[in-house]
Amino acid sequence: MTAGPRDVSDETWAVLGGRGRQAAGDPLNVGPVLASNFVHGDERYYSREHATETWEAFEALLGGWERGDAVAFSSGMAAVAAVFDLLPVGASVVLPDDCYQRVMHLAEHGGRTGRWMLTRLAVTDTKAWRSAARTADLLWLESPSNPLLAVADVPAICAAPRRAGTLVAVDNTLATPLAQRPLELGADLAVHSATKFIGGHADLLLGVAAARSPALSARLRERRALAGAVPGALETFLALRGARTLPLRLRQATATAQILAERLAAHPEVELTRYPGLPDHPTHAVAAETLGGPGAMISFDVRGGADRADALCRSLRIIHHATSLGGVESTIERRASHHGQEHLPPSLVRLSVGCEQAEDLWGDLADALAATGRRSTSRPG
Ligand SMILES: *Cc1c(COP(=O)(O)O)cnc(C)c1O
Repeated sequence: MTAGPRDVSDETWAVLGGRGRQAAGDPLNVGPVLASNFVHGDERYYSREHATETWEAFEALLGGWERGDAVAFSSGMAAVAAVFDLLPVGASVVLPDDCYQRVMHLAEHGGRTGRWMLTRLAVTDTKAWRSAARTADLLWLESPSNPLLAVADVPAICAAPRRAGTLVAVDNTLATPLAQRPLELGADLAVHSATKFIGGHADLLLGVAAARSPALSARLRERRALAGAVPGALETFLALRGARTLPLRLRQATATAQILAERLAAHPEVELTRYPGLPDHPTHAVAAETLGGPGAMISFDVRGGADRADALCRSLRIIHHATSLGGVESTIERRASHHGQEHLPPSLVRLSVGCEQAEDLWGDLADALAATGRRSTSRPG
């Protein structure tokens, strides 16, 4: 019998997991099953209702990492919405003060329309989160938070005594299952945008929610079928292929991010660098205690305001001026330029560190900081 996720390291599971049946003559890798319907006589008859072998393989790999039952969705937001859809009308929802913007918009919309009551808590106010566990229907955590990279004390919050029926969900997109396993800490759900680090190549949209209890994952599968938020065959195939190298990509990107963050923090044209791996980061200690690594995301405020930050993003030659994160290619953008993100510091740029070489990336950043410097505007050329 093949080894399971608990028998091997996460790195080996990346390669071993999600291979479907491995009987004689079966392919070593599960291919994209492009089918809407199947010949009658099996439980599987229509692929909105029943996972194809491609999704099953992807779900098996992810569920193994997260130590739960994983359910794949057509996007990260589809997975998030499926979790919110589990709530009864009038439920009480608690959200961090910093989190992924569209999750915030979804939660605010439900609050405005009377679907649920919404409370926001500071990521770092562990005491308030722990006491909210006694009354809320859903605690939605995201750690590290996007884009301010604040790290929540997820173990302490998950371990808080809670009312029967209170769900604790952790958006684990930025941490990845390699740095944080919420279900082992006591959360009910670990949710991902697999579009990001898991897929890792900026070529697909995909989401996944892993549940600690099979009853909960069954409810998510029912939501997926009813809403039709099913993953595509090609997307799950590509994400599975991407996930095989997640440990390698993340190790490289994290090592590079640490180097870049230290140099950015020391650079006179950078006002503030937010990276959990820096000793003076407000949640550095919590990060060191709760996460397997500080990750590949850096947010920093450039001196000179929004215009300077925009100019910096445009003048980079290796780092791509594009949204999203977690790909092999480094990407950068000014977050407050997005509608609904005006509360963020205007010159904050979020850098997703990819797999390029550290010195190449630093050279690109240093050149762009110099080229857009305040003195350079008077220089010809
Ligand atoms: C991108 C993202 C999402 C949404 O995922 P999509 O795949 O884009 O729908 C949710 N949470 C976090 C933290 C994200 O970065």
